[in-house]
Amino acid sequence: MNAEIIAAGSELLTAERVDTNSLYLTAELNNLGVEVTAKAVIGDDRDRLAEAVRAALSRSAIVILSGGLGPTEDDVTREAVALALDRKLVFHPEIAAQIEARFARMKRKMVEVNRRQAFVIEGADVLPNDRGTAPGQWVEESGVVILLPGPPHELKAMFERQCLPRLRRLVPDHSIRTLLLRVTGMPESDLDQLISPVYKKYLNPVTTILAGNGDIQVHLRARCASVGEAEALLAEVGAPIEALLGDKIYSRNGDPLEVVVGEMLHKAHATVAVAESLTGGMLGERFTTVPGSSRYFLGGFLTYSNAMKVELLGVDPQLLAHFGAVSSETAEAMAAGARRLTKATYALAVTGVAGPESGEDAAPVGTVYVALADPEKTVAVHRQFLGDRTRIRMFTTQMALDVLRRRLMGRAG
Ligand code: AMP
Ligand code: MG
Repeated sequence: MNAEIIAAGSELLTAERVDTNSLYLTAELNNLGVEVTAKAVIGDDRDRLAEAVRAALSRSAIVILSGGLGPTEDDVTREAVALALDRKLVFHPEIAAQIEARFARMKRKMVEVNRRQAFVIEGADVLPNDRGTAPGQWVEESGVVILLPGPPHELKAMFERQCLPRLRRLVPDHSIRTLLLRVTGMPESDLDQLISPVYKKYLNPVTTILAGNGDIQVHLRARCASVGEAEALLAEVGAPIEALLGDKIYSRNGDPLEVVVGEMLHKAHATVAVAESLTGGMLGERFTTVPGSSRYFLGGFLTYSNAMKVELLGVDPQLLAHFGAVSSETAEAMAAGARRLTKATYALAVTGVAGPESGEDAAPVGTVYVALADPEKTVAVHRQFLGDRTRIRMFTTQMALDVLRRRLMGRAG
């Protein structure tokens, strides 16, 4: 079964506001086994909205509208849907009374425009709104058209309490199972080239790939008549994909890399410290976002200048002068210094050029060195990243965590 979502509101067509309601609705619909096949954002224009509703209804069994149920002239969703379905709007005095009572509870008097919210499309079921004044509407036609209020907290409560139970009765019984693999250490295009020969053969499960800042998520969603079938199908398609990606997969339960590495450190009764130059504390930040990280994260050094690298970490000034701040030698000396000073099992150090200008170091923008010191050795890894400052710094934290993950797995960083 398919659904379409129409977000009504001229503000959603500006650069300042985004339609987030459709993301929430999509997740909920997918959980029910309903595929969202199209979304639209339409300004506050009755005829355009009506046109969009007609088109959506001709293609899909479920059409959900969000927004435009407010009391003012620009809120035209009720009128638009009535027009699209060729039905009348009927005034419901009991809704007007409820709105009036709500105003009274707030010690305010209902203004006349609020009466607009008491108009209901002929034959529609009214969906009460416990968090606002605008009631929603559920209209059955060739498919079902659902009108929901725009404010996200009102929409969510109404959808959860009143639409989900109805939709469950409407939607054929399906079991959905998903597999989520999180991958790092390869570009999205390489990953897709590697695994697309497997997943392209299947329309079910649906495979989606999300990538950003050195982190890739591969989602497989199987929809079958029973849980058993869905799990079997996921296993059939998931196994060859997992085999192809191998140890590039760092998580199978959605955990981010800092959680995975933290668990590995904790299990190994190991500790870690960081020495950061170009990431300016971002690596320590990622370690410490995880609750309980004090069990393994000792602390760090934010040594941005050469002088701080020398004074805080004991990096040899001659080495710095000779190889430069952005070099494997400096990265290694930073890691070794951090480990010596904190007595951590592992120390990670990062140095590089985040741009946009490459400094006096002459290394090009995106040059990054990550060094890892452990009880046996200190080794630096070099990467060249592309992109802007933010992207390079995010990639670097991901790379550093992955270097440690690989060491903890017993492989060379
Ligand atoms: P409305 O029901 O059109 O009067 O919308 C009321 C408010 O809800 C708007 O000012 C927005 O702040 C918010 N809103 C409306 N539509 C959306 C949407 N699709 N996503 C997120 N917020 C929305
Ligand atoms: Mg609006």
